[in-house]
Parts: sequence; C-alpha cells; structure tokens
Amino acid sequence: MSVYPHLENALKHHFGYDSFRSPQREIIIEALENRDLLVIMPTGGGKSLCFQLPALMKDGLTVVVSPLIALMQDQVDGLRKNGIPATFLNSSVSPHKVRMREQAILAGKIKLLYVAPERLLSERFLPLLDLVHHQIGISAFAIDEAHCVSEWGHDFRPEYRQMISLRQRYPNVPIWGLTATATERVRADIIKQLGLNQPSVHIASFNRQNLYYEVRPKKKNSYAELLELIRENEDSGIIYCLTRKKVEELAFKLQHDNISALPYHAGLSDIERSENQTKFIRDDARIIVATIAFGMGINKPDVRFVVHFDISRNLESYYQESGRAGRDSELSKCLLFLSYSDVKTIEWLIEQKTDEQEQKIAKHQLRQMIDYAEGTDCRRAIQLSYFGERFSGNCGNCDNCCNPKPVEDWTIEAMKFLSCVARCKQRFGMKHVIDILQGRKTQKILSKEHDKLSTYGIGKDRTLDEWRMLGRSLLHQGLLEQTTDGYAVLKLNSLSWEVMRKQRSVSIVVSLKEKTVGKERSEKAEQADVLFQKLRELRKQLADIQSVPPYVIFGDSTLKLMTQMKPKTRDEFSKLAGVGSHKLNQYGDKFIKVIKAYLQENSSVSSKSTSSSGDISYTELQTFELHKEGLSIKEIAQQRNLRSTTVTRHLSDLIEKDKPVDLNLLVTLEKQKKIIQVLDALGDIALTPIKEYLGDSYSFDEIRLVRGRWRKQTNKSGKR
Ligand code: ADP
Ligand code: ZN
Repeated sequence: MSVYPHLENALKHHFGYDSFRSPQREIIIEALENRDLLVIMPTGGGKSLCFQLPALMKDGLTVVVSPLIALMQDQVDGLRKNGIPATFLNSSVSPHKVRMREQAILAGKIKLLYVAPERLLSERFLPLLDLVHHQIGISAFAIDEAHCVSEWGHDFRPEYRQMISLRQRYPNVPIWGLTATATERVRADIIKQLGLNQPSVHIASFNRQNLYYEVRPKKKNSYAELLELIRENEDSGIIYCLTRKKVEELAFKLQHDNISALPYHAGLSDIERSENQTKFIRDDARIIVATIAFGMGINKPDVRFVVHFDISRNLESYYQESGRAGRDSELSKCLLFLSYSDVKTIEWLIEQKTDEQEQKIAKHQLRQMIDYAEGTDCRRAIQLSYFGERFSGNCGNCDNCCNPKPVEDWTIEAMKFLSCVARCKQRFGMKHVIDILQGRKTQKILSKEHDKLSTYGIGKDRTLDEWRMLGRSLLHQGLLEQTTDGYAVLKLNSLSWEVMRKQRSVSIVVSLKEKTVGKERSEKAEQADVLFQKLRELRKQLADIQSVPPYVIFGDSTLKLMTQMKPKTRDEFSKLAGVGSHKLNQYGDKFIKVIKAYLQENSSVSSKSTSSSGDISYTELQTFELHKEGLSIKEIAQQRNLRSTTVTRHLSDLIEKDKPVDLNLLVTLEKQKKIIQVLDALGDIALTPIKEYLGDSYSFDEIRLVRGRWRKQTNKSGKR
C-alpha cells in the first residue's frame, strides 16, 4: 500500500523493527483513519504495536485501558526504553507522582497513558479526561484484554462493562478492542459492550509457527527427562502442574537439584506470589513451577519452554498456557507429559461439579484434550481445528510431523476385542474383557463362567499393555463406546459391528517404544553461545541498574542477531532488528564493546580446536580468578550475578582446558573415583544416564566437573 510509505520508517525509528507482521500494517492504517477496531491476535502476535505506533503518529493522547496493574510498569518501562513518552496511573502511584504525571499529560508531553478501568471511569478522573479532550485531544481509546467485557470469556471483569460510557461521552474518539480470545461469542460481545461502531475486524492466524509441540508419556524417569531439558541451556521456562501440592513438590525437587526454580500458586501469600513472579520476569529465577493461577498477563517474551508436567483440562487452556512460550517469535518448546492417572484426577475433579451441564461440557473438553495428546496427526493441525482454523500438511515443527509414529493394521485384534465385548453382553469394563482375552483365571471370570466363552484365551499373543492400547484407540476412533456413569462399561456401536463384519479395517498407532532422551548439545554449539551469554550478562547488568526486566533492554532475537552479525560500528549496530534510534544511542556502544572484545579474544587464539587448546573466554577467566581466591561455586555465582550451573560449566571447561582448577575442593575424592569409573565404562554419553547410574547422591554439577578432568585425561592419552 503506497499511500503510507512512511509507516516502515516510523516502525524502524521508534521500535527498531524492519517490517510489520501480518496483519499489523492494515490495522495501523485503519487506526490512522480513525476507524473503530476489533483486533484478535494470539499471544505474542504483536497486538501492542497496533495501537502504540498510531498513538505516536497521531495528534493527542492515546488512552490504553489495561486490567493488569502489575504489568503497566513493565509495559511503560519498555516503551520508555524506546524513547517513547508513555506513563501510567493506578493505585500503586503516589498522589504526588499522580499530580506530576497529570501535569505532563496536560502539557502534551505524553503520547500513551496506561490506566486501569476503575480509575478511568472514576468521578475524579473523568474531568481530567474532559480537559485533555479539549486541550490536546484524545486520539483513541485502546482497550487491551477486551474479552474481559464478556461473561462468555474466561476472565470477566464487571468494571469493563462501564466502558460503554466512553463511547457516550466521547462519540468521535475511536475505540480499539484487542484480545487473544478467539471464540465467536466473545467477539460479538466485545463489539456490543464497547459500543464499537462498524468496527473493522482483524483476526490473525492462531498458528504459532515458532512453537515446537511434543507429547511424551509420563513415566518414572520423566523427572530426569525434565531435568535434562532444563539443563540443556540456561533459558527461562514455565512448568505447569495440576495441584498446589504437585507444584510445591516439583519446585522443591528442582531446587534440590540446584535449579533456580520458584513455586507459584493460589495458596501462597500475595507478596510471595508477586515476588516470585518478579524474580522470574527479571531473570533472577529461571524456572517457575505453577498451577494455572500463573500466566494471565505474563508479558515475558523470552520464555523458551512451557512444560505441562500434568495434562491440561481442555485444549483452549493448553493453547493459552503453552502459548506463553516464545512471544518474541524465537523457537521455543511446548512439552506435555501424558499420564492416565492425571486424567483420572481431572475426571474426579469433574465428578465433584454439581451442575450436570457443566460436568458434561468439562468431560467433553477433557476428551478433546486427550485426543490431542494421543493424536497422531500434526499437533498444530489438531489445535487449530479446535479454533475453526484449517491447517493442512506437515508443519515440520511438532513431534508427529518430525517423527511420525508407525501405524499398524490391527483389524484382527480389533475383531477379537469387540467380539469379546459382545460375548460378555456389553456389561463389563476394559480390564475384564482383556482378562478374558488373555485367558486369565480371575475370581470374576470363574464366578461368571467366562472361561467358557469362545473368546476366552484367544488373545494370549498380545500383552496387557498392547490390548489396553488397542482398547483406548478403539474408543478414540469412535469404534467402541464406554459408559460415563463411573463404571466405564464397554458398549458397541454401529461402527463396532462394521469392524466385526470385516467391513472396516482398523489401524492403530504403535507408540510403546521408548523415547530417547535428548542428546547433549555439541561442544560447538556451546562455544557459539559464549558471545550470547556475554551479551546477556551485559543486558542483565544494565537491567538491574535501571531495575527493569532484561528483555526491556533488548529481546533475545536482537541479542542473537548481534552474535550472528557481530556489528563493530554504530552504523552496523543500528541495522539490527530491535535497535531503534533511542536504544542505539543508549546502549549501542556498550554492546559493541563486548562484541569487539569477544572478537579480539577469539582472533588471538586458534579457533580450530575447541578442546584443550587454551581457548579460554573472558568470562571463564573471571570465574577462574575468583576460584583461585578460594571462593565456592555459590559465592562466585553470587558475586558475578550468574547462575551456579554457569559457574560449574566454566570450571569444568577450565579443567578440560588444563587450567589448574582445584577439583578436590569441589568434589570429594571418593566421588571423583566413582564417577571416573562410570565414565570409563559408559564413555562420553549424556549426563542423565550417567547420573541415573550413579544415583541420587551425585549431582549433575559434580559429574560435569569430574567429566572435565576425565575428558582432559582421555584426550591426552588419545583414548577418545
Ligand atoms: P501480544 O500483546 O499480542 O501478546 P506483543 O505486543 O507483546 O504481543 O508482542 C510480542 C513480541 O513481538 C514483542 O516482543 C514485540 O516487541 C514483538 N513484535 C511485535 N511486532 C513486531 C514486528 N513487526 N517485528 C518484530 N517484532 C515484533
Ligand atoms: Zn506438525
């Protein structure tokens, strides 16, 4: 659209981005044309820009209504870091500051004002708004989280219902509603309740391309798998559990394994909750273990993984919760652990509901969730079809697309199973049917004389797990039914009969094979991370000085670009996406300095070999200096504002590079011996199986450190 050629320039100037995401550009053009808008975009889609950029380009003040007081500060901080004149008013601001901010607004110095709905509509505030309207003009009202006006949404707030008075009081000021909630009913409600006037409705795709979806069966060693995932790198992650108790237990376990993890659930005090949340947002805690109480309004863009350690109640919740990963569009992971005993827990919770209709809906939703988890189609396709969006083909970014599971023809087995259900007159559950198939002599079989049935013992060739797998698959494919009165009696339907008459074949996914635990990252990849870590450390320092979350300084995407492009001049630096004019001036030189230092260090040392070549980075050296002064890992971590795993990694790398690190101070001799023995036997494999072998009294850190020495020695003697 050539009518607005300057939009891209404005985008780069204010926010540092080069191009718009779909459909930001169209939305912004209509915003500039003073239309009412309804914007529906998934979390992380980039809604904020749709009102922030027009606010900067139009005359007057844009008023942003947001229900999340705790977030206003961060949002405004983020804008100010881009040199954008924004402020907020809510109950946390002192009367003195309120007055100063009001004055700044009336002096026309502010372009964006964030305010909570109850304040906006208060007797005291409306006169001020009138004054602003007359003196400098109100360019628009942007209503964030607009689904809060709807009782049909999941987060109804009565005070949002008063918002209609804005339309009555300022009929000519455009109103923009923005939300991530997709259902038809809520959309219609927003238009009505906000009094939107022939709004232009924009619905972005709900496909989150950068998210990798995976489902794994939950087993005894799932905790080890989780730990492995967490230790793969140093990224932030959210782990959801069903109950407070599970949250507490898991957070405790992780802390015990030296992971900086904090719990979050409704049972904690308000103060504790908000403290834990802030620590997470500011990268002072890496992992938050939470119930679904956590997340609404979490703006942290660099959450790299969301794990559902327990299954969600329904697919919409799963989509929203897992969607908190990767808001910055960087690759991120969503992992769900499926266990049928968790399903049972949810079923029990549903049984406790007194409203029958509610129960029915909840059961249906849970069924859809299980179908997703057990599904063999593209995970993305299943999710999007839930929102009425079609996605066909292979997404290439989910477990089912990347590792399609083998499908086998089990028609004969299905016929045996279904006839057995028929033979015992559709009066029994799965367990009894399988007992008959396998020819067991249980009390129940003997007393009912089911050992006389023609299907008795015809399924001895399959294991109990295999029959169960078939039974579940038949249920999910609708080839068999089950009563929901608590007894789970198996019932045949017309499709079952088609199978038994050989009119229909049955394929099932064979998914009993063991999952292999993710391999350890290559040394090379770790090496490539060194610059990233340094830039991250600088970012954290700057953020702490200004007491803002690190992502407000630069997002991970921009840091990654720095590691790829390695800009050495301001001009080169300014070209990076995420670097606007203001941030260039404020931070450019500091980051360039770190990049240059890195380049220098690495040019002086041969970069061909990464092992034992003395290829030691600056950050490792700093750790080494403190170690020589006799500081413990914990103390070094504290002093350097790093995680202790990072320090451990430095030390183990230093050992491997033949620096005189005193291993005896870090790991007892006895443990060293044992770990070396295991390494000799198993070789240089991933840490998790080594730890499993050694048992709980050995920590990952200890193994990592000793492995450094072992690698150095085997390297020298040429064994590796
Ligand atoms: P939402 O409010 O829809 O959840 P945000 O407005 O917080 O999403 O944006 C999510 C992330 O995407 C932010 O980090 C934001 O800076 C980034 N972003 C938004 N628009 C663009 C763009 N055009 N180019 C690059 N990044 C963008
Ligand atoms: Zn897929």
